[in-house]
Amino acid sequence: MKVVVKISDMKRISAKCQRDGKTIGFVPTMGYLHDGHVSLIRAARRDTDVVVVSIFVNPAQFGPKEDLVKYPRDIKKDRKICEKEKVDFLFAPRVKEMYPDGYASFVDVPGRLSDTLCGRSRPGHFKGVATVLVKLFNIASPTISYFGEKDAQQCVIVKKLVEDLNINTAIKVMPIVREKDGLAMSSRNVYLSKEERPEALAISRSLAQARYMIKKGEKAGGKIKKIIKNILSRSKKIKVDYIEIVDGRSLKSISNVKSNTIIMVAAFIGKLRLIDNLWIKKP
Ligand code: AMP
Repeated sequence: MKVVVKISDMKRISAKCQRDGKTIGFVPTMGYLHDGHVSLIRAARRDTDVVVVSIFVNPAQFGPKEDLVKYPRDIKKDRKICEKEKVDFLFAPRVKEMYPDGYASFVDVPGRLSDTLCGRSRPGHFKGVATVLVKLFNIASPTISYFGEKDAQQCVIVKKLVEDLNINTAIKVMPIVREKDGLAMSSRNVYLSKEERPEALAISRSLAQARYMIKKGEKAGGKIKKIIKNILSRSKKIKVDYIEIVDGRSLKSISNVKSNTIIMVAAFIGKLRLIDNLWIKKP
């Protein structure tokens, strides 16, 4: 595996892969890799000739009061994981390389897709995400880019972005990888204290209950939301940010579960904000 830190080097490598007729599978991450990231890397390894993983904690997607400085990092361990997964290139640029002095251009997908749900609690977040992704797509020239269903809103936005701007990459969305007890894996889970960790389970438990209700034929969004709310309200440490049932393309709220529906939950445990969802392709 080669570690690449310069944009010019990464561009040269991806151009050569393209010239050689090789497909590039790209997994953009912020590092502190876990099995959720690994599932994307394995999909890329399976589907494409050359696997590129990026690790970049993107300042543009953090709000001024968010955890940019504190965000967990362990590049040595990440490197080992990537080597084990037979990644070909690990692209890990410095902030100044991606955003040099005088940097000025941003990409935005304004309106509902970026402003609702997580965008409401994190203004500007998706503008930062869209910007860094367009930059990374231009640098890595991926044939297929891999994203996790865990960040469902990000998936919807990136699909729209690629479609609107005619970016030459396919987008593949992979299922949420969970801990044995159901908690959706996230780099930020390390912030959970011993006392908070079991309480956090209420989130995945509430979605599992929603899944069960839907399996039994329940379609009414109001009833499903109520059950989720009830389960979450039993935990004293959880403060709900939102519980929403939305269309999986427009992110518009819907009142009945249908095909391509996302049931989305965001909740605070202490200062930590956790997200999880249930993406129903067909009820
Ligand atoms: P991050 O490093 O948190 O920016 O995530 C990088 C990519 O990994 C994103 O596409 C995430 O959606 C995906 N990802 C994060 N957590 C999980 C998970 N538990 N299961 C599957 N994919 C995930």
